[in-house]
Amino acid sequence: MLNLILFGKPGSGKGTQASFLKNKYDLVHISTGDVFRKNIKNETDLGLKAKVYTEQGELVPDEITVSMLENEIKQNLPSNGFIFDGFPRTTFQANEMNKILSKYKLPLSATVALEVSDNLLKDRLLKRGKISGRADDQSEDKILTRLNEYRKKTEPLIQYYGKMNKFYSVSGIGEIDEISLRLVDLIEKIQK
Ligand code: ADP
Repeated sequence: MLNLILFGKPGSGKGTQASFLKNKYDLVHISTGDVFRKNIKNETDLGLKAKVYTEQGELVPDEITVSMLENEIKQNLPSNGFIFDGFPRTTFQANEMNKILSKYKLPLSATVALEVSDNLLKDRLLKRGKISGRADDQSEDKILTRLNEYRKKTEPLIQYYGKMNKFYSVSGIGEIDEISLRLVDLIEKIQK
């Protein structure tokens, strides 16, 4: 069973690579950002609660996000494995995730980070904003808020998973296919 956390700053390509890995290894892909956006579009209770935060580029409060994640896992069991994209993003979420994964007997295979420099990310996100129309991709301010949130709240997870011997990183710069290959190489090594 392969259970992966894909880790990286906003715009690092997590979503793109997660879709690729989902198909290659027949995994369930859970993107917390996508689940929030779907709920916001459908104006559900969850969507209404999350909207203010996501649109400003701030993290949605942990309690909301954790219960949503557990729901998504439950709904997709049984499965060959999961790829988590955009979760966990805080130490609290990581602790809760450990509990949820053991409750459903889903051993964590690895946390893999896509490394991209901030300057490249800003360009990528502003470009994406023109196509996607995503509210949080529309201004440099919101992008900076997301990068700051990442630095303050998410970056400490590198050490967190490092201590568990579950942290790996690959360069997220280059052609999409090239980056996918780097991920596959790493996954094959981990699975040996
Ligand atoms: P990106 O990584 O490009 O910023 P995502 O689609 O992963 O985009 O997330 C979009 C927004 O959804 C985040 O800025 C945040 O508001 C919310 N969000 C997603 N995942 C989480 C999470 N694990 N905890 C809190 N908020 C989250």
